[in-house]
Amino acid sequence: METPAKNIRQQERVFDVEAIRRDFPILQQQVNGHPLVYLDNAATSQKPNAVIDAISDYYRGYNANVHRGIHTLAEKATAAIENARQSLAGFINSPAPEQVLWTRGTTEAINLVAYSWGRSNLKPGDRVLVPILEHHSSIVPWQMATESTGAEVVPIPVTPGGEIDMMALDELLDERVKMVAVSHISNALGTVNPVAEIVVRAHRVGAKVLIDGAQAVAHTPVDVQALNCDFYAFSGHKMFGPTGIGVLWGRRELLEAMPPWQGGGEMIEQVSFAGTSYQGLPYRFEAGTPDIAGAIGLAAAVDYLQHLDRVAVAAHEADVLEYALAQGAAAFDGLTRFGEADHVAGVFSFLMDGIPPSDVGMLLDQQGIAVRTGHHCAQPIMAQYGIPGTVRASFALYNTRAEVDRLFEGLAKARRMLR
Ligand code: PLP
Repeated sequence: METPAKNIRQQERVFDVEAIRRDFPILQQQVNGHPLVYLDNAATSQKPNAVIDAISDYYRGYNANVHRGIHTLAEKATAAIENARQSLAGFINSPAPEQVLWTRGTTEAINLVAYSWGRSNLKPGDRVLVPILEHHSSIVPWQMATESTGAEVVPIPVTPGGEIDMMALDELLDERVKMVAVSHISNALGTVNPVAEIVVRAHRVGAKVLIDGAQAVAHTPVDVQALNCDFYAFSGHKMFGPTGIGVLWGRRELLEAMPPWQGGGEMIEQVSFAGTSYQGLPYRFEAGTPDIAGAIGLAAAVDYLQHLDRVAVAAHEADVLEYALAQGAAAFDGLTRFGEADHVAGVFSFLMDGIPPSDVGMLLDQQGIAVRTGHHCAQPIMAQYGIPGTVRASFALYNTRAEVDRLFEGLAKARRMLR
């Protein structure tokens, strides 16, 4: 039998990044007179032709509202959105498609849980644990839910290297904790959190775990049954799918016990002024017309990813990120990296001494290089580091070492101009 390392090396040889790049039309353009280097993938990823075509085919060929029509187009659209749900279920290894709920994205998925599960399960004295490095969308919905129930949000400390302090977590975990809300991968630092282990520890005290998978789904295969989590949330647009669509996956018994959170069409069984009864899963949580084109586009993104060798993709991404981190360490004095976890994915977050991140971002943009600057919707971890924000280069499967070289040439130029 081959060792995994040897296996990865063999797969690496078959990964053709140039062929992948040809699938993404937006990457072929010049920006400000330079070939585009797109390093803002943690904010949103680019879309392959397969996704763009799937959306366009729907609007050109079978646009119709779903679930209520008996005409041919309506039936075709309904089959497409339910097939998309099946694809997404397969993508995360859900035991059943009805545990996959369409949402607008990660933010709405977390809000759904905080609103519906939170308001019906939290009471005064209960606690929701949230690591300090979380995205605001994993903090604020819980603040809102705890404000209205008398429970409290308690931060889980993070080490200077940007890892969840597991000993501190153990000290916090007691019977008061009802929910641990944690990201699979941090968008601000790239830390890959030990989510499976967190689930084990949280379940010992009877707490539920919601994993924010926004940054994970594009980088690593996700298996909700292996993770044994209670909820898993993610956005289509960060995994090469369209904006406006995402998924909340939940454990069946939890979803079935949760009250609907938005009322309207689609989610009801029977309505009268005497009272209304609701549909079962998944429709009770999908009031109104869903993002049909988005769901179809997201299924095309799943299909695209599933036709790639994900081991080879991961090896390529790890190579590009390691190269960037090594360049960053060697580049020049005064470049400080934030987040130095043992296990990172997709993100290089840094500051250049004395140069505001937004100035760095603008000068890179002039050279056709797209990065993000600021607090990355993660102000508490920025506050822990005592900084207002960072420059963040974030990578996807279509990025290359040559693009990393362009980034560092751009940074050297920025430094010459701004110092
Ligand atoms: N969680 C993390 C870790 C993220 O990186 C993001 C977006 O940057 C979100 C949640 C919110 O995702 P969306 O804006 O797609 O709802």
